[in-house]
Amino acid sequence: MQQYHVETLAIHAGQHPDPSTGAVMTPIYQTSTFAQEAPGVHKGYEYARVHNPTRTALEENLAALEGASTGIAFSSGVAATDAIMRSLMPGDHIIATSDLYGGTYRLFTQTFERFGLSFSFVDMRDLSQIEAALTPKTRIIWVETPTNPLIRILDIEAIASIGTQNEIAVVVDNTFASPYLQQPLTMGATMVLHSTTKYLGGHSDVIGGAICTNDASWIERLRFQVKAAGAVPGPMDCFLTLRGIKTLHVRMERHGNNALQIATFLHDHPSVGMVYYPGLASHEGHELAKKQMKNYGGMLSFRLKNDSLENAIKFMSSTQLFTLAESLGGVESLVNHPATMTHASIPAEIRHAAGLHDSLIRLSVGIEHVEDLIVDLASALSGV
Ligand SMILES: *Cc1c(COP(=O)(O)O)cnc(C)c1O
Repeated sequence: MQQYHVETLAIHAGQHPDPSTGAVMTPIYQTSTFAQEAPGVHKGYEYARVHNPTRTALEENLAALEGASTGIAFSSGVAATDAIMRSLMPGDHIIATSDLYGGTYRLFTQTFERFGLSFSFVDMRDLSQIEAALTPKTRIIWVETPTNPLIRILDIEAIASIGTQNEIAVVVDNTFASPYLQQPLTMGATMVLHSTTKYLGGHSDVIGGAICTNDASWIERLRFQVKAAGAVPGPMDCFLTLRGIKTLHVRMERHGNNALQIATFLHDHPSVGMVYYPGLASHEGHELAKKQMKNYGGMLSFRLKNDSLENAIKFMSSTQLFTLAESLGGVESLVNHPATMTHASIPAEIRHAAGLHDSLIRLSVGIEHVEDLIVDLASALSGV
């Protein structure tokens, strides 16, 4: 379905009226096994750890959105990451961006280092740091852009070309942007990873993950991990994710418009210090974001002028519409405090050195009316 636009693919790709009933929506095939007419004679489905028709529809849909031949769905975003790591060998080396999703960092350092993989974490805004970290054992360059929570922008095309030159696979975690805003495979990446829990699902009601790629050897290795390790999503979860994806483009437009207006409001507010949003001309990654993204997304962070923990807590306890919670990418607005929530396990000194100040506040801007969101923020800011 490559000839269609993303908006059309989101609604149609992978979804055909059910052959047995004509049901327009893909049924939830709640079954663990499939009847065979004779031993080995079946309709392409044998056992649901390996395949399930609802999952197949989701996988074909995700592949189309990312411009990939193949999508492989997992039970969560971290399960997808886990499957890539399991495909490596002890001694292999991975170069990852330094401000990585916390759960990815935890999986790398607390699980896979024990199994003999080694990791270098570098600031990928500086390409020479990637070149300097390369070793003969480097197998993967792991990119996340925009990053969390400082919303930095990394140059996918430039990093992918380092991978190509050195025959190293480049993985882009595209969770924050979604395929509506950027398609890393078209920029040269080997694999795209998603936590479909976030913008793809879009309604904060399902956990899921996926990898999309055109690389035959990775497809084989990842399909093997699906069968061998079994971190697969259930059919109900696949159905919910598919349903969410149908409105991805509409939601992403509104997330981006709302976030840009909120970033501008915060930027001009006397109680607010730094605002981290790539849509602002003052953001260091603005030009790059303009080049590689369709809009600037729904995630932004900011600091209070009075940079204290007490002030940040006061602010976050006074919003009405912005719910204090982890996660992101749903239709509702959320507020998060990295210092005490997502990044609390990092010692304060290291946190501050990395730019994660005590008053740093992250917003996942939802698709409510932007005026209501701004009134909510203004009222919470009046108390700090
Ligand atoms: C949430 C998230 C993950 C992990 O996904 P889960 O579905 O929670 O397992 C990975 N990467 C990024 C950028 C995320 O935001």
